[in-house]
Amino acid sequence: MGNLAAIESKFTFEMSHLLHWHEGQCSNLHGHTYVMYVEVERFNYSLHDRIVLDFKDLKSIVEELIEPFDHALTLEGVETAYVDLPTKKVLLGFSPSAENMAMLFATRVYSAVAGKLGKSAEFNIRVKLFETQRNCAKTAYGVDYPYDEETMKLLEAVNV
Ligand SMILES: [Zn+2]
Repeated sequence: MGNLAAIESKFTFEMSHLLHWHEGQCSNLHGHTYVMYVEVERFNYSLHDRIVLDFKDLKSIVEELIEPFDHALTLEGVETAYVDLPTKKVLLGFSPSAENMAMLFATRVYSAVAGKLGKSAEFNIRVKLFETQRNCAKTAYGVDYPYDEETMKLLEAVNV
C-alpha cells in the first residue's frame, strides 16, 4: 500500500430530481447545478509510472458517464406523476440523492479507470458531489472501500 499518489478533476452538470420520501422541500421537483470532484487515488505508485492517469482520460471517462444525467430528470422510478414526462430521464431504482449518485459515479469511474490502468493497479475512486455551494456528499470505492453485494447489484442494474 506504499507510495500514494492521486489526481483529481472537477466536473459540472445540470440535473433535476425529487426525493419523494423527503419531509421537506426536497420532495418537490427541483434542479441543481452539480459540481463533482473525482479523485483517482493510486497505491504502489512508482516514479516510473510517470503519471497516475492521464487527466485527458479521466475527463473523457467522467464526461461520458455524466452525459445521460446532464439536463435530465433523474428519478427512483416510483414517482408515478413524473415517470412518464416527455423529457430526458433516468430511472435509477433507488433514490437520486447526492450520496447515491456519488456511489453510482464512483463504481462506474472505477471500472473505466481499471480498463485504462490494467489489472495490477491498486486504486480507489473518491467522489465528492456538491448539490449546492454549501452541501456535498462523499464516497470512496475501490481496493480499500468495496461496496456490499446488494449495493453493487442495484448500481449495476442502472441502465446508463
Ligand atoms: Zn435536490
